[in-house]
Amino acid sequence: MSTPMNAPEEQQEMRRPGLPYEQIQDIKRRARDAAGQVLDVYWDLDKFPVDPVRLAQEYGAEVFIGDLKEDLDGFMVPPRDGYGAQIYVDTDSSPARQRFTTAHELGHLVEDGERLQVDRRRDALSKEGTDPHELFANEFAASLLMPEFAVRQLVAAGMARARLHGFFGVSQLAMQHRLRNLRLND
Ligand SMILES: [Zn+2]
Repeated sequence: MSTPMNAPEEQQEMRRPGLPYEQIQDIKRRARDAAGQVLDVYWDLDKFPVDPVRLAQEYGAEVFIGDLKEDLDGFMVPPRDGYGAQIYVDTDSSPARQRFTTAHELGHLVEDGERLQVDRRRDALSKEGTDPHELFANEFAASLLMPEFAVRQLVAAGMARARLHGFFGVSQLAMQHRLRNLRLND
């Protein structure tokens, strides 16, 4: 028996429960492309951190940030009856977390503008392995707030890993996850 020749990162991804590896890669690719298009159309390239509220508004959504019930992180109401899409984000979390949730809900709108999406705090990570829409929205949000070219430029320029999350306005955890995905986490 020979052992598979995959890089350790790939093996890790293949062990993710639920979705098949090929489907995961396909969803992530679509999410990255979609985030890249939104940035291309609506974002001034020199401005960091990326402002997901403004991008969502430019995309045609109203954004409400307020005290949502119990364990809700946020939700997205698709356009209906002549009203535009609405994105709701809970205030009961850090600004960095609110920004990520806003970008995440925008990801839901971009992927499927007809489907109500509700995000509960307790599902935040567990659903990513089994729900293709959650995987899309998380990859979209990461790609939107931490554009790959910008992360690579800063790392190449020698910015300390510990400063990156402040620059991009994301949580340390989100930044670590992003660096790991881009294989820049050394
Ligand atoms: Zn979601």
